[in-house]
Amino acid sequence: MLNERLYRRLNHVFGTVKVAKTGAPLVWVPDVFGPTSIRVIDYGETYRVNCPFCVKKGDPDHRYRLWISHAYGTEIRGRRRYHLATCFHNNCLQDSAAMDELRNLILLPSSVALPTQITEPSLKTPLIYSSLPGSCIKISELSVQHKSNQFLLNRGLNLDFVYKHFDVYYCFDSELFPYAIDKLVFPIYFEGKMVCWQCRYIGVPITKGCPKYFSPPGSSIKSFLYNYDVASQCDFIVVVEGILDVLNVGLPAVAIFGKSLSAHQQRLLRRLNKPTIIFLDPDASEEAEAIARDLNQSDVRIIRDAPNDPGKLSREQLYALIPELEHYGTDPS
Ligand SMILES: [Zn+2]
Repeated sequence: MLNERLYRRLNHVFGTVKVAKTGAPLVWVPDVFGPTSIRVIDYGETYRVNCPFCVKKGDPDHRYRLWISHAYGTEIRGRRRYHLATCFHNNCLQDSAAMDELRNLILLPSSVALPTQITEPSLKTPLIYSSLPGSCIKISELSVQHKSNQFLLNRGLNLDFVYKHFDVYYCFDSELFPYAIDKLVFPIYFEGKMVCWQCRYIGVPITKGCPKYFSPPGSSIKSFLYNYDVASQCDFIVVVEGILDVLNVGLPAVAIFGKSLSAHQQRLLRRLNKPTIIFLDPDASEEAEAIARDLNQSDVRIIRDAPNDPGKLSREQLYALIPELEHYGTDPS
């Protein structure tokens, strides 16, 4: 448990407290409104109590729907954060008076001292996320007009191929991960089991504080390779940066979630021990060289001078760069 003192205090005030996402850190990014402003992406480990404000609205909460982050009251960017709480039953804390009242409930008597800092959990033992972030539907079950399908189509992807070979979901609701809502969800499998997932914003994010990608807090996405299980059945491997690159390049492709190879990913590729083609975005030639050096295999090739990112090339352009890809095609049959 990350904030035992807060947990004990909530237990004292509310009677029963449920804990969600044990061990997961708070996820936030700096926001644009000033040097101390933050945008919270995920509460991480959360303490759930029955909302005391819902009673006053004549709709009592019996499902522990007042969520309080373990980081409640701690200092981030120089300010104590007393807003890291949400009522999912009646949205009671929209009202700043209720937010103040909650703070008084938790902090009074004045002798109660919450920690100013939380030591975030070590990522040495990554949390495994073996289920989807919430209520999700396979995009193949949505209409082609749905924005998730339109987004992939506009990127030039072959939807039939994607449906057949990749699990892609659209998340329409999530209690645990509000940030996953209205995003594409790509489960990450390893040896037949889901170990993590990554959400992708549909379209281009409007603000800087709104990340394009979101993976579950405390997970270690860089411990895995996207599409590892399928690619391991192919004769060669293509290393690309992101999931959308994999969807376009095809079955032999694995994504490393960025431009660098983690020690885990290096071990996975070594274990496959297959001819490897490194195909990062054209702006990442130095990083591609570094990956080739790290792999230290005899059969490694780097694709240089591609006209665009691997996720945005046509089949013809891909085959011109990697002729052996043609064997795996995009024929869904
Ligand atoms: Zn409430």
